[in-house]
Amino acid sequence: MNKSVFILGVDLDGVVGDFYGAMREVAALWLNRPVNELTENVSFGLDEWDINNFGGYERLHRYAVTQCNLFSNMRPIKDAPSILRKLSGRGIRIRIITNRLFLKYFHRATITQTVDWLDKHDIPYWDICFMNDKGAVGAHVYIDDAPRNIINLRKNGCRTIVFSNSTNRDMPAPKADNWHEVESLVMESLDEWQTGTLGLFGAEGFRAVSA
Ligand SMILES: [Mg+2]
Repeated sequence: MNKSVFILGVDLDGVVGDFYGAMREVAALWLNRPVNELTENVSFGLDEWDINNFGGYERLHRYAVTQCNLFSNMRPIKDAPSILRKLSGRGIRIRIITNRLFLKYFHRATITQTVDWLDKHDIPYWDICFMNDKGAVGAHVYIDDAPRNIINLRKNGCRTIVFSNSTNRDMPAPKADNWHEVESLVMESLDEWQTGTLGLFGAEGFRAVSA
């Protein structure tokens, strides 16, 4: 890991982009149902919208990206772009980490939409990693919303902030309910890193690690 720069590993869907809000609109179209019939209180996989009876999640996802430009049209989560610009301005290296390539045959659309969207919203980053194993990218602190990612990252000793939404209500702290809270938690971590006391957050709480 680069020891001279503090690296923030940032997930996109559900953290920087309003993935569930955008998917809800696409799913209403796909299911031919009024959008207000689809609960906003979803879990990971969107079972609450009864998509399994109509082809399942992968089919909906493919439709969303290839026919509705999901990753171009998604709205940013409130304050995410501006606070990422602030953090970047303080010398923090933003490393985007996303598992958006989990389905084959439309990688070009996914990648193009993603990088255009990041530019359109002036979201600063120096690295972008399309991968499942998020811990392998070597960030000092991560922010993610998917329970499975959070559990895996923490299991591997990676300090991980939960970005709160309906899919991760049961995840232990540290959690951020908005991007102002993300900013505070990241600045605390930066401060610990600069003073050589950066530790790990885990289900058991804080535990120090040697530099
Ligand atoms: Mg996510």
